Amino acid sequence: MNVSCIGLGKICFLVSLLLCAALVLFIPWSQRGLSPQHSTLPCNSTRCHHEFLELKLQQTDATLLAGHQTAGLIKRRESSSGQVKQTRGTRKENQYLFKEMLHLQDLFIAVKTTKKYHKSRLDLLMQTWISRAKEQTFIFTDWEDQELRKKAATQMVNTNCSSVHTRQALCCKMAVEYDKFVLSDKKWFCHLDDDNYLNLHALLKLLSAFSHSTDVYVGRPSLDHPVETVDRVKGDGMASLKFWFATGGAGFCISRGLALKMSPWASMGNFISTAEKVRLPDDCTIGYIIEGMLEVKMQHSNLFHSHLENLQRLPPESLLNQVTLSYGGTENKWNVVKVNGAFSLEQDPTRFKSVHCLLYPDTNWCPYHEVQSINKTSPSR
Ligand code: UDP
Ligand code: MN
Repeated sequence: MNVSCIGLGKICFLVSLLLCAALVLFIPWSQRGLSPQHSTLPCNSTRCHHEFLELKLQQTDATLLAGHQTAGLIKRRESSSGQVKQTRGTRKENQYLFKEMLHLQDLFIAVKTTKKYHKSRLDLLMQTWISRAKEQTFIFTDWEDQELRKKAATQMVNTNCSSVHTRQALCCKMAVEYDKFVLSDKKWFCHLDDDNYLNLHALLKLLSAFSHSTDVYVGRPSLDHPVETVDRVKGDGMASLKFWFATGGAGFCISRGLALKMSPWASMGNFISTAEKVRLPDDCTIGYIIEGMLEVKMQHSNLFHSHLENLQRLPPESLLNQVTLSYGGTENKWNVVKVNGAFSLEQDPTRFKSVHCLLYPDTNWCPYHEVQSINKTSPSR
């Protein structure tokens, strides 16, 4: 009897040892599996660092958005320069994932648009996500549209910039966006194009992992390598400068702390002259000022999306966790997110209405609205 007990004990011990070993081996691989494309990327000095950071951010974001606080997650620490260092944390340390309690009122959301897109693009945004953040969203346009003025009132900003798609005209709008944010009392500046869907809840979750008074620049790079340009602002015009920038078409955010530091190159008309000196588009110029001039690293996040990427490849189960979405438009109308929503492709070619109804089923034009209303009014059982 005793012998068989001891035998059983040994077996149990061996089995638990094997289980532990399997877990230790399995965890790192399962984490890599979150982003399999990164594990196969070549690793040269700059790229490897950025891809690693991106992967870690993606994992942290995914965890944040799921709202889970499990043991052994990635812990974020910001150094004074705003760089993110990540270490594995315990359950207790995960409080760092939520650095700051954020509310919608803390955001300044700038949407860049132009005369010809007021109807075809902006109306859809006003109908969907902007309707949930009216006070926080400012529409930067180039035409005094009376109809839009009626709807948006002082939230519409006529920049008086030219309504052409040139570097100067786009930089002119960005300059006005920046100046208006600085004059506001908001904690975060987020820039979007008029073909972006913004998931407000996901954005708040993402930004609450940072402190708005430190240096934070978060978005998605459009290239897989940094831009290299001649340093015409700081240097003697001979040296080159490498920097990453967040593509404007996917949206990006900047903390107030960092935005204020950008002032010498960005405020009161300086943004236009900086962009002129470096001869770069508006979003590139932002990256130039932040990474190049201020030496603050951009935080790469996979939660922002432009139509430069294949949106069909976004996994449907993670769609509602993304911060921004976009659509291909007339040239590439098939490049839209895959969502089994309330509307067909014909009814909702951008898929924004379908996404919106999944996020806010209580919206009065969503098909589930009636079900929601009944549930709300029926007595609780
Ligand atoms: N845009 C603008 N003026 C123009 C053309 C475009 O302000 O003359 C804005 C447009 O409203 C959008 C952004 O610039 O917010 C990008 O435009 P688009 O999506 O047409 O181009 P892409 O994404 O291909 O750069
Ligand atoms: Mn676009």
